[in-house]
Amino acid sequence: MSYQHQYIDGTRIHFPLGKVVCIGRNYAEHAKELNNPVPTEPLLFIKPGSCVVGLEGGFSIPLDRGSVHYEAEIAVLIGKPLSRTPNEEEVLDAISGFAPSLDLTLRDVQSKLKDKGHPWEIAKSFDGACVLAPFVPGDAISDLAAIGIRLTINGEVRQDGSSADMIFPIVAVIQAMAGHFNLQPGDVILTGTPVGVGPLNQGDELVLELPGHSSFASQVL
Ligand code: ZN
Repeated sequence: MSYQHQYIDGTRIHFPLGKVVCIGRNYAEHAKELNNPVPTEPLLFIKPGSCVVGLEGGFSIPLDRGSVHYEAEIAVLIGKPLSRTPNEEEVLDAISGFAPSLDLTLRDVQSKLKDKGHPWEIAKSFDGACVLAPFVPGDAISDLAAIGIRLTINGEVRQDGSSADMIFPIVAVIQAMAGHFNLQPGDVILTGTPVGVGPLNQGDELVLELPGHSSFASQVL
C-alpha cells in the first residue's frame, strides 16, 4: 500500500507526500562517530518522496548492497509553504506535526562515494530509505528544544538523543532549508541523528519513539 501522511489517532493528513529534506551531522557526537568534521553550516540533502514507507507493520531493507544503517531522527511535517528565509514565527506556524523516523543509509556505498567526492544519492534515496511513523499534531509540542528521539533494537536502546543537543536547532534548520528549496505542505524535514548509528538486520525488532509523545513497535521484514 502506498504511503500517506497520518496522525497518531489514525486521521489521514490530506497533504500530498512531497520531498524529504534532511540535514547531515546535526549532532556533534554523531559527526565524531563517523570521523566527520562538525559542520559550521547546515549540510543539506534531499530524499525523494518515492523512498518513503510507513513504519507500522514493518519495512524491508536492501540485502545486496552492503551495510544498511539506521539513523533515528525527529521528523517535522510541513503544513504551509515556506520560501526564501522565513522568520521564526512563520516556521512555527508552518509545522503540522512531529514523528520519529529512520533515515536509512547504505553505509558501505556512502563511504565509497564520499571517498571519491561523489554525491550520496544512491546511498540515501533508494526505495524504502525513509521510514516515517504517524505524526503527533504540531501544536502538541511547544518546546522544540526538548524533543527526545529514541530507538530500541531487540530490547537494547541504541540511540537516545534530544533536540537540545542539535548543532542547528529545528527552526534554524528549517530556515536554512527554505533558503535553498521552497517547502510545500506535505514535505518532511529530517533533523539529523544523534550518536549510536549502526547496522540493521532482517528480523530486528524495533521500538521508535518521541518519548512522552509517541511510541511505535516495528520490525525489519
Ligand atoms: Zn540522517
